[in-house]
Amino acid sequence: MRKTVALLGNPNTGKSSLFNALCGMSARVGNYPGITVEKKVGVLQGANEQIDIVDLPGTYSLAARSADEAVTIDVLCGLQPGESKPDAVVVIADATNLERNLYLLSQVVEVGLPTLLVLNMWDRAVSENHEIKVEELAGRLGIPVLVTTASQKKGVVEVRQAIESLLATPVLPSNLARSTFPQSFLEAAAELQSDLAKQNVQVPLLEVDRMLIDKDGHFQKKFAKQNVGDLERTLRATRDKLAEQGCKIPLFETKFRYAWVRTVLDGINTRPAANTVSSSDKVDRWLTHRWVGMFAFLFLMFSVFQAITILAAWPMDWIETTQGALQGFVEQVVAPGAMRSLINDGIIAGIGAVLIFLPQIIILFFFIAVLEDCGYMARAAFVVDKLMTSIGLSGKSFLPLMSSFACAVPGIMATRTIENTRDRMVTILIAPLMSCSARLPVYVLMVTAFVPADVRYLGGWVTLQGIVLFAMNSVGALVAIPVAFLLRKFVFAGQQGSFLLELHSYKWPSLTVLYQRVWERASAFVTRAGTLIFCTAILVWAAGYFPASHEKLDAAQTQWEALTASQQKILPPDGEEPSEANQAAIDDYQAKIDAQAEIINAEKAELINNSYLAMVGKTIEPVVKPLGWDWKIGVATLASFPAREVIIATLGTIYSLGSGEDESSEGLMEKMRSERWPDGRPVYSIATALSVMVFFALCAQCVSTLMIIQREMNSWKWAAFSFVYMTTLAYIGAWVTYAVTNWLGWAA
Ligand code: GDP
Ligand code: MG
Repeated sequence: MRKTVALLGNPNTGKSSLFNALCGMSARVGNYPGITVEKKVGVLQGANEQIDIVDLPGTYSLAARSADEAVTIDVLCGLQPGESKPDAVVVIADATNLERNLYLLSQVVEVGLPTLLVLNMWDRAVSENHEIKVEELAGRLGIPVLVTTASQKKGVVEVRQAIESLLATPVLPSNLARSTFPQSFLEAAAELQSDLAKQNVQVPLLEVDRMLIDKDGHFQKKFAKQNVGDLERTLRATRDKLAEQGCKIPLFETKFRYAWVRTVLDGINTRPAANTVSSSDKVDRWLTHRWVGMFAFLFLMFSVFQAITILAAWPMDWIETTQGALQGFVEQVVAPGAMRSLINDGIIAGIGAVLIFLPQIIILFFFIAVLEDCGYMARAAFVVDKLMTSIGLSGKSFLPLMSSFACAVPGIMATRTIENTRDRMVTILIAPLMSCSARLPVYVLMVTAFVPADVRYLGGWVTLQGIVLFAMNSVGALVAIPVAFLLRKFVFAGQQGSFLLELHSYKWPSLTVLYQRVWERASAFVTRAGTLIFCTAILVWAAGYFPASHEKLDAAQTQWEALTASQQKILPPDGEEPSEANQAAIDDYQAKIDAQAEIINAEKAELINNSYLAMVGKTIEPVVKPLGWDWKIGVATLASFPAREVIIATLGTIYSLGSGEDESSEGLMEKMRSERWPDGRPVYSIATALSVMVFFALCAQCVSTLMIIQREMNSWKWAAFSFVYMTTLAYIGAWVTYAVTNWLGWAA
């Protein structure tokens, strides 16, 4: 039989880092059947055998409150369906915060499994001058204790060896905090246990304890379902009796366990003197200040978007040039016709239009990763906690919401750390309003094309483009405030969750972490462009190309190319003046080329106006007209139902199909600028651009997000609700934006 070892500890102690270091590439991530808690299993290659390692969700205590914590304790006790009880436990503790971490250890050892304690974050403990006598600690606890710096893979080999020897010769922990509990409690628990045994239900002591201590808790609910008489009444009576004897439930547990922890640590854990103020503390006095901290947060975010507009210009140009060159190459090797159009107008114009935004994605996630890894984001969560409390949420919702700025899917999964169910539901519902990386390209396209680049303030350091970009990225978050407030007040009314957070000292961001985060986002972006967007671009191309016959266009195109080639041949070498006769011949060719170009332009416009795409577009045009959009923007928006970035690919394809010969090498932005209504007015203005951006800021056009909402809230109803409420908000928002900007005269 293969053995299993469970990895367990407080949140953020480096469990996953240690898990990855131990198991390497063998890790598999899935869900526990029937619930949405993540299951991570890997294989540890031991000297003689393979050992399964399970990375359990982090928890501060075995008194399970959230779904994640319930799984942790169920797996530990062998009660999780389909999972065998682990053969040993590794408890990971943060060496800089031993007191709180040993609280969990004191509960875990009572499960009665061979246990190994790992003090992680050893690098931090050393640099912060914690002195821990490890051997003495091991002696007092009666279990092996090791130290690691998991993020640098230090001490991992020793952990592997310790796990192997623990499995070979299991030693059970003997120093139990429970033995210091009041006699009255120990007797009551024993009595309850034998009571249950008489009804043929064998319950281990740890579970009896939890049933007694956690009112209406996980174990009470679990055993109330079994046939054990009126369990609730028995428990209530026992608790009342204990209270009379001076043993207050649940408070006594914390008191006795912390007393035990203090005895264990007495004299072997000298913490740095509390009154030395580190430079980190000095900085924090400002960065966590109520108003200054808020201002600093907004200022940092604002600077990030400024940096994006300034830094990304150059690589964008480069990608655009490459794209043009690629299309030119295809024109040389593929004859005019459906194949060339599919490659150039469908694939290259569609995907290229999206890929051009890769530099922005990389820059944004680089900055966010720096802020996160140096420890700043935890401060931001702390500052925002007060704001969150006023709309009915807590700082716990901040990190999931912050990661929704990358993508709502991991953001919504991260809400699993929120114990308060109502907080969690509201956070899930507002997460898709945070401006994700799929919206960034839409904003950047509109901002770069229609907001003047030369308007700068403060000596050139602040650009108008950057201001608009920041504003667009904030719209969703601002709208989320009243939405959360209303949901919390009327739909998910009830008590608020609380928020507890430790702030570690600031540190230099690790290059590996930065690289991983940026790589993860960038490759997700490219993968989407290569799969989902690729497919829709082809569908949109086909809808824009068919059903009309392209014979006339292809003939004109072939003619145009032949004429251009002939003209090329008679051009004099560079720097030489053509002779008079020569010049006449060149002019003659030019006139013919111009005539063909005119035919091509007229034909292309005609073809796209008679395509399937136009049929759909013209049907929905009345609906989108109040937003200042024409049918092309309308269908592009419709086509981007599966993912927001698709709008760019669709516009790229539509305008490439419809653009004339003389402008075919221009980028998407130029083409958008020259787009006209039938009466000759430009289609795009600042007003239109803003209305499109506001629509995309608020709409729910992302199938993955709707699917994850369905999964996490376990109801199609809420997924449908999200779609309806966000689309409504988006339409109204875009309409108001267009109406107001039009009134201001920006539609010209
Ligand atoms: P988990 O929540 O317990 O799974 O923790 P993670 O493995 O996700 O780690 C949380 C954070 O702590 C990450 O930013 C890690 O890079 C960092 N970390 C993990 N181990 C160490 C360590 O030994 N020293 C330091 N300084 N940081 C660590
Ligand atoms: Mg983890």
